Amino acid sequence: MSEIPLKQNSLDINLADVIPYTINLDTSGDFLVLTRGVMQGKIQTDSILLEFEQELNIPIADMLFQHTKTGNLILRIYNPPVVSEEDVISLFLDIVSRELSLSLVNTDTKKPLIYVTPEMIGGPLIGSMYIGVIDRGTNLLQVRGITGCPLNCPFCSVDEGPTTKTKVLDYLVDPDYLVDTYNHVVKEKGIDKIEAHLDGQGEPMANPYLVDIIQLLNENPKTNITSVQTNGWYLNEKLVDDLESVGLSRINLSLNSMQPKLSKKLAGRGDYNLEFLLEMAEYISNSKISLILTPLWIPEWNDEDMEEIIKFSLKINKKEERYPTLGIQNYLTHNQGRNIKGIKAKTFAVFNNQLRDFEKKLGAKDLVLKPHMFEMFKTEMITNPLKINEVVLAEMVLPGRTENEVIATAKNRLIHIADSKAYNYGSKIKVRITRNRHNIFFGKPIKN
Ligand code: SF4
Repeated sequence: MSEIPLKQNSLDINLADVIPYTINLDTSGDFLVLTRGVMQGKIQTDSILLEFEQELNIPIADMLFQHTKTGNLILRIYNPPVVSEEDVISLFLDIVSRELSLSLVNTDTKKPLIYVTPEMIGGPLIGSMYIGVIDRGTNLLQVRGITGCPLNCPFCSVDEGPTTKTKVLDYLVDPDYLVDTYNHVVKEKGIDKIEAHLDGQGEPMANPYLVDIIQLLNENPKTNITSVQTNGWYLNEKLVDDLESVGLSRINLSLNSMQPKLSKKLAGRGDYNLEFLLEMAEYISNSKISLILTPLWIPEWNDEDMEEIIKFSLKINKKEERYPTLGIQNYLTHNQGRNIKGIKAKTFAVFNNQLRDFEKKLGAKDLVLKPHMFEMFKTEMITNPLKINEVVLAEMVLPGRTENEVIATAKNRLIHIADSKAYNYGSKIKVRITRNRHNIFFGKPIKN
C-alpha cells in the first residue's frame, strides 16, 4: 500500500502514542494487530471505522489506517469533524478494551490467551495451580501471573511449551489484580519478611507486565524479597536493568548444560542460544540482583556438565553474599508431565552425597540447599475454606487449561474441575472437593 501524503485538512493520530502496544496492520490490511510481549490480538479495521461513523459521525470514506514511512501506524481522518481528537482517541481505546480480549493469543504457544480480571473471578485469585497466589505455609508466596512457555524441554514436569499435548489455552492475569491478591494474602498471614516468588506453570519472564509487577510487589512494606524463576529466554540487558531499578532481589536461572548442542536438545529448541544465556548470567551477576543458577541434573544426559556449571558459577558470581549461587535440581519423573525415556530418578541420599563430593572437589559452598539459606521459615497458612468431600455450588468463571476442565469459584477460592461436560460462564455447578493441598483445590461435578 503506498503512503497517502498528508493533506492540510486531515488529522493524523499516531496509534503507538495512545496505547502501550506495538500496533500494525496485518498483510491483508483488514485487521489491526496489537502486540505486547507474548500477548497478541486482532481487531477488524472495518468494525472500528463503522463505530467511528456511528458514534462520531465521521464518514467511513474519510478515514484510513496507514503505515508511515517510519513504520508508525496512523489513523488519518480527512475533513476532521467537529469532534475533538480526545473524543476520537477515547472511542478508539474503548473499542480496543472491549474487542481485544476476544482474540488474544499467546505468541509463544499459539494458544488462545485469556486475560484474567477481578470482574471475571469476583474474589481473590487463590486456589489455582495455574495463576494467582499460592501459600504453602512459609514466608514464601508463589505469585503466578502467566501460563505458557517458549521452550519445549523434554523433561517438563507440567507439559508446557508450544508442543504441549495437554494444555489447550493460556492465562495472563491483570497485573493489579495479581498484586491485590498478593496484598490480601500478605495481610491475612500477618507476618513480616515475605518473599514474593514469581514462578509458574510456564515462563514468568514472558509476562509483559513483569517489571510493573515487581515494582508493585516491592511497594508492600511486608515484602522482604522479590525473586523470579526463569529459563532465560526473555533475558536481555535492558530487562535486567529495569528489574534492578525496581528492586528485584534474585533471579533463579535454569542453565542445564555448557554444551551448545545439548543445551538446544534440553530446551527443545534449535534456536536456543547458550552463549547469549551465559553472557546474561554474567550480566546479572554484575548487577545488584542476586543470581542463582538452577541446573536440572539428568542422569546420563548432563553428568559432565554439572562440574562445568559449578566452575562457571564460581567464576562469575564471586561477589554474591546473600544467597547460595547454585541450586542443582534432582531429576524426578512426573505423572502429568514429560519424562525422558529410560532415565530413572536418583534417591535424594545419592544426589546429596554427589553434591557434597562436588563441594569438596571444587570448593563450592552450600550445594545441599536448606530453606534458611533463602531466609525462609515456616508460618501459619491462610484460611482453608473448603474441606475434602465437601459439596459446594460453584460458579464457572474460566475454561480450564486441559480438555474438559473448568475453573469455578466457591467461598472465595478457585477450584479445578475435571471431567466437566461443558463450560458455561456464570452458571453454577455442583462439585465435590476431591483434593485440597496448600489452598489449591480440585473437584468433580456431581449429579443433582
Ligand atoms: S522452561 Fe520450564 S516450563 Fe518451560 S518447557 Fe522447560 S521445564 Fe517446562
